[in-house]
Amino acid sequence: MQINEHYADLEQSYLFSTIARKVNEYAAAHPEADIIRLGIGDVTRPLVPAVIDALHAAVTDQSRQETFHGYGDEQGYGFLRDALAGYYQEHGVTLDTTEIFVSDGAKSDVGNILDIFGTDNTVLIPDPVYPVYVDTNVMAGRKVLFLDANEQNGFLPLPDPSVHADIIYLCSPNNPTGAAYDHAGLQAWVDYANAEHAVILFDAAYECFVEDETLPRSIFQIEGAKTCAIEFCSFSKMAGFTGTRCGWTVVPKALLDGKLNQMWLRRQTTKFNGVPYIVQKGAAACFTAQGMQQIRETLGYYKRNAKVLADTLDALGIWYTGGKNSPYLWLKCPNGMDSWTFFDYLLENAHVVGTPGAGFGRNGDGFFRLTAFGDAARTQEAAERLKKLLA
Ligand code: PLP
Repeated sequence: MQINEHYADLEQSYLFSTIARKVNEYAAAHPEADIIRLGIGDVTRPLVPAVIDALHAAVTDQSRQETFHGYGDEQGYGFLRDALAGYYQEHGVTLDTTEIFVSDGAKSDVGNILDIFGTDNTVLIPDPVYPVYVDTNVMAGRKVLFLDANEQNGFLPLPDPSVHADIIYLCSPNNPTGAAYDHAGLQAWVDYANAEHAVILFDAAYECFVEDETLPRSIFQIEGAKTCAIEFCSFSKMAGFTGTRCGWTVVPKALLDGKLNQMWLRRQTTKFNGVPYIVQKGAAACFTAQGMQQIRETLGYYKRNAKVLADTLDALGIWYTGGKNSPYLWLKCPNGMDSWTFFDYLLENAHVVGTPGAGFGRNGDGFFRLTAFGDAARTQEAAERLKKLLA
């Protein structure tokens, strides 16, 4: 028996464990400190009533002989794929339902999609980045090139025609930077990918936070994207499904003359047995008029938090990306502090916890991530403390 030696090449991530240790140590030494956590990327608001009602109704379906559902289609039930196609149509994107694959979340699909690509591909990944893209490639022994995202390019790097890549990861609006590409930026990537016969793996997990109507919410709003892109999306941030689990992936049939769509279908039907009927019913309820309105209210709650934090950084004159069209704010640490020094400074002097940018890649050092997923009153309180400390 041989093990996959590439696992030894994975870099150990101490980011969240180090944060937890530092916060616990500080809290133990200062039990009176009222610590506010603005570091977590998980949602905090409950599922909306329309989703809960649909989940309850689906549970009842499972209790009756005539409405019981066993194994479903591995690609997802027709009712959910139709609803998703309708959602894309609202943004001017026409998809065939056979191009949409329902899954248990974007993370699984972003990792699993590599099954259909050879290991000799050159992979291009922006830095800083959502760590899953890098680690899944390292596990498979692929060569990874990093692309510098930084203050100069507003954390929205564009392609370099002198560098060849086969697989390109883009995430917009981005985790951790909150930066979102405009049409021209994504068009440059689509043109590059088509010219290089490359594929863009586009992570749209935060598309629901885009408010600016001039910004794309799907890569398929870009001319030529259907011949070079696969899109991953999720109900996690859109509707609070982080613990309920549902997402989807779009593999257009125009990509390699349908070959990748066929291969992904084959991959999913072989290794995946579908998302629970009950969960898919809950997910579909997001697209009813009532569900959509309730989801927008929850998103509005987080967006108001983001605005409170953005206004605070504006008032302090601190450079940042995100905050608009994203639940994340990615700020430049004041006074040239590195990420971890600023983390300690904020914890000790404002009792506010964020995420050091250095944990997301080399280019993240000197930057810091705050999230809008917290409680509104606590976020407001954190903003006041930041104002006092950093003025
Ligand atoms: N993609 C990005 C960029 C994320 O930040 C996350 C979660 O934080 C995911 C994907 C995972 O989403 P899901 O919960 O659908 O697996």
